[in-house]
Amino acid sequence: MANHGQPSEPTPMPHCLAVPFPTQGHINPILEFSKRLIPKGIRVTLLLTPFISKSISARDRTRISALEIGLETIADGHDEEGCPTGVGAQRFDAYVRTFREIGSKALARLVQRMADSGESVHCIIYDSIIPWCLDVAKEFGILTADFFTQSCAVDAIYYGVREGKVPVGETTGYNFGVIPGLPALERRDLPTLLHDCGPDPDPFGLILGQFSNAEQADWVLCNSVLEVEQEELSWLSNFLPFTTVGPTIPLPYLNNQHDNDDTDLHGLSIFKPFNESTCANWLETKPKHSVVYVSFGSIAGLAADQMEELFWGLRNSNHYFLWVVRQSEESKLPKESELSAAAAAERGLIVRWCSQLEVLASEAVGCFVTHCGWNSTLEGLSLGVPMVAVPQWSDQPTNAKYVKDVWRVGVRVVEGGGGESGAVVGREEIERCLREVMEGESGEEIRRNSEKWKNVIREAAGEGGSSGSNVGDFAASLISKSR
Ligand code: UDP
Repeated sequence: MANHGQPSEPTPMPHCLAVPFPTQGHINPILEFSKRLIPKGIRVTLLLTPFISKSISARDRTRISALEIGLETIADGHDEEGCPTGVGAQRFDAYVRTFREIGSKALARLVQRMADSGESVHCIIYDSIIPWCLDVAKEFGILTADFFTQSCAVDAIYYGVREGKVPVGETTGYNFGVIPGLPALERRDLPTLLHDCGPDPDPFGLILGQFSNAEQADWVLCNSVLEVEQEELSWLSNFLPFTTVGPTIPLPYLNNQHDNDDTDLHGLSIFKPFNESTCANWLETKPKHSVVYVSFGSIAGLAADQMEELFWGLRNSNHYFLWVVRQSEESKLPKESELSAAAAAERGLIVRWCSQLEVLASEAVGCFVTHCGWNSTLEGLSLGVPMVAVPQWSDQPTNAKYVKDVWRVGVRVVEGGGGESGAVVGREEIERCLREVMEGESGEEIRRNSEKWKNVIREAAGEGGSSGSNVGDFAASLISKSR
């Protein structure tokens, strides 16, 4: 309708609630994705549980507000202790149930309150493992974006199993050959929840439950990159409109232009103390590609004998190492005399938490010893850092298989991980893997492949690239559907 010269009302910016599952590896990707939406004319309010909200630093709070992202809390019934991480299946199951019950009511109240105060919500972007967010959104007639934080390969495996698209032989097990692109997977390469649920199978229910209502979502987004898992993505897209928007890493890191700008630091750090400047200062003094960075992410806990083998593997390799040992794990470190010997030799630095992207982006780092959580795997791949995969559980063994045999950007330890719980990876094996990645012809080939993938991903994330365009298309479509 013509407005006959009247100044037109500016169209309000669409307002999204971003609801991550409350653990580090789930908060980071949804927060980083939200950051991409702001310059495209979308308003975002991030929902954190009271425990996480309490855990983040004043500095993180300031950064979030500088980015003009709103912050609200969503009750989960666990104000004091948050989500029980680790493999305690029953506690985790109980948490997931309480979060669903309490969280869905809290979410509905928040949406109502926002509508009443003129801050109406147009879309809920939620982690795929909390699919009840979609039910709340539907009650209010709000749009939904279902956000998957694992790889397309792993999503395809879970989807194929849940929907009976993967045949199961009585003796042969699942035949994943039906999913194009997947390498031949042995038992040790499968997500552990497929064969190692423990006494309570509910983590498995949680993982498969991701697909319970996904077909009703307006968008299905995935923190991956088309070029990295093209065939797996294309198979999944036959059933659900999977769209890759990863990696959820700030562009300056991908373009080698990060400069410690406060607003562009990555993720939120729930763990303290955060030894950012210590790491940067230490790394600055080390030659190019000379340091082994070691981290097992925010959840995995190693047995004390595994910590000891790892420590000696690092020491014996004679390379510098920067090792993240969370405070809750510190008591398992080998006794102090051995550690101070390493410190005296200035070979090793052990910190409680760091800015992983800052570390991976440092020229000094030559290798990443990782548990292969999907964020860490994608961060290593995107920043061109060769990897030694030491998978522990969940999707990590499958990510490790891709590191070694699909992208060929690293090696995987031969023992341990992949549900073979209790199997300790010995110091000789760790040393062997470090040498294979850091030294000689094998190391050079791995580095060439790593550089290749880094460039592929940088292109994909940029404005005209596959993920860059998908983010733009999502924002444009959200704006148009919100009118
Ligand atoms: N991370 C970090 N500092 C550390 C260790 C990890 O910032 O010292 C970040 C890392 O960059 C990644 C996340 O924590 O984004 C861990 O997620 P991932 O999926 O790799 O593993 P999870 O913690 O879920 O097992």
